[in-house]
Amino acid sequence: MTEAPIWHEMAGQEEAVAQVALAVKKRDEGVFHSWLITGPPGSGRSNLALAFATALQCPDQGCGKCHSCTLAKAGTHPDIAVLSTDKVQIAVAEIRELVKSAAFGSAMGKFKILIIEDADRMHATASNVLLKTLEEPPANTIWILCAPSEVDMLPTIRSRVRRVGLKVPSVDEVARLLIERDGVEPKLARQAAAEAQSHVGMARRLATSPEARARRRETLVAAIKIVDVSDAIIASEKWLDLARKDATALAKERDEEEKEQLLHSMGLTAADTVPPALRSELKALDDAQKRRASRSLRDALDRIFVDLLALYRDVLSLQLGGGVELVNEDLANELIDLAKNSTSPATIAKLDAIEEARLRISRNVKDATVLDALAASLRRG
Ligand SMILES: [Zn+2]
Repeated sequence: MTEAPIWHEMAGQEEAVAQVALAVKKRDEGVFHSWLITGPPGSGRSNLALAFATALQCPDQGCGKCHSCTLAKAGTHPDIAVLSTDKVQIAVAEIRELVKSAAFGSAMGKFKILIIEDADRMHATASNVLLKTLEEPPANTIWILCAPSEVDMLPTIRSRVRRVGLKVPSVDEVARLLIERDGVEPKLARQAAAEAQSHVGMARRLATSPEARARRRETLVAAIKIVDVSDAIIASEKWLDLARKDATALAKERDEEEKEQLLHSMGLTAADTVPPALRSELKALDDAQKRRASRSLRDALDRIFVDLLALYRDVLSLQLGGGVELVNEDLANELIDLAKNSTSPATIAKLDAIEEARLRISRNVKDATVLDALAASLRRG
């Protein structure tokens, strides 16, 4: 039932996958019109939403290779609209626009699918606009909402959606996926899974891109080296530079892969001239990739915060002597040194400072300002 290639990415989420794959299998009998996918960050909410939408549109229930699947993956499928935001709140106008596009019906496939990635960022007015549609959904329109948990949604919306819950996959489950699917050597697979804290996409990058691993290490080493104010300034600049490099590298890999797949699905290679009739699809891909670029830096900064949190949690667990396995095992000596030269309350204050920085970035405070303040509060002691 869950053999279609589209589900392979969803490590450790057999139950959730089985639930949506069954809906795909029975799609000819009608599909429930609104779904809520819940799970902690990194568990793959958006990935599952997109895989579900892709599988519903694909003639083979999610082959991952056909024209429909390729467009879906590239974010240019005319019948799959994704609302993702890097703002604190989703504007009412954005929801209205989605509702309007739902009313037009589908262009290519049977369904019109609308995904709202951070549905918990809809406030009352936006939620109510959406609610009206969920109460009287147009035929063959499917809404897929994603949120950290059910309680993040208004009860009126909760009562109208079918819930799919994701769990955090274990380090072992992620490592197994890297070994079996990507052919990663077991020791590296385990380390990457631990360092990525079970974030599947990140774990694969760390395991397969030596550059990405080097950038992660540099991020942590810069933090470890902060003793005084001048070190803090160096670290802050370093992080911003690393985040930019990481965002560029990730976007480049992804953009090229998507373009190649799209050309392939049209029966072309990169060397061929694109016939005029197909140029609009390539243009749409190009536009989607440009729109995504601004979000990439934000994502790269967030990964830095996640890595720094793991670093100071390691320090804290050494200070508390819990005997827990370190996430950053390869920096064990440096971490032991940090633990000896500070106290657990000081480490907790550093963890708070990182969470605060994360929050400020999500509220659109200037990157350099946030990183400067963070680096200053990570000084030794
Ligand atoms: Zn397909």
